[in-house]
Amino acid sequence: MLALQGAVDKHIQMLSKLNIPCLAVKHREELGRIDAIIIPGGESTTIGKLLIRFSLFDPLSNLIAHGLPVFGTCAGLILLAKKITGFDQPSFKLLDITVARNAYGPQIESFEADISIPHLGEKAFRAVFIRAPIITEIAAHTEVLAGFEGNPVLIRQGNILASSFHPELTNDERIHRYFAHNLVGEHLKELAYKKN
Ligand code: GLN
Repeated sequence: MLALQGAVDKHIQMLSKLNIPCLAVKHREELGRIDAIIIPGGESTTIGKLLIRFSLFDPLSNLIAHGLPVFGTCAGLILLAKKITGFDQPSFKLLDITVARNAYGPQIESFEADISIPHLGEKAFRAVFIRAPIITEIAAHTEVLAGFEGNPVLIRQGNILASSFHPELTNDERIHRYFAHNLVGEHLKELAYKKN
């Protein structure tokens, strides 16, 4: 769990509910001790600056580029995006999407909506959007797991999972479980296979 700024605690609570051990990463050395990382919501410009200041930006970018599973929520999604419309700010540029920040309109700071995520069963997921970005462009190889009003809001590209909403702010842990079972599970299996 990247813990430089933003909505960290609720993610940690959700992981502990799922019995998934978690480390709050603030220093470069800690990157050697993780099997996956969550980049939380918050302020993407601030998190980006702090990543650089704490010498985490390049090593983390390298790890993700080489397969470390990552789940970016809201600002975390922005930090993974290849293109950010109208802003010159650091991002890993590993997720083939274009995002527009705060794009649901400044007057609607936040809202909730029921979205359908077919991979996670029939029950709708209550998605909490807080000054959320809109994904305006997406590459063909990036899978859309859920959409809202015609835009993707939950997507997967290989080892990268990203949501424009805050899945940690509900009691529904299905997306965190999906991340752990699928992306992290696949990664650990591959590592074990390479070792043998
Ligand atoms: N508006 C924030 C940004 O652009 C993201 C908001 C959030 O993470 N909830 O970085």
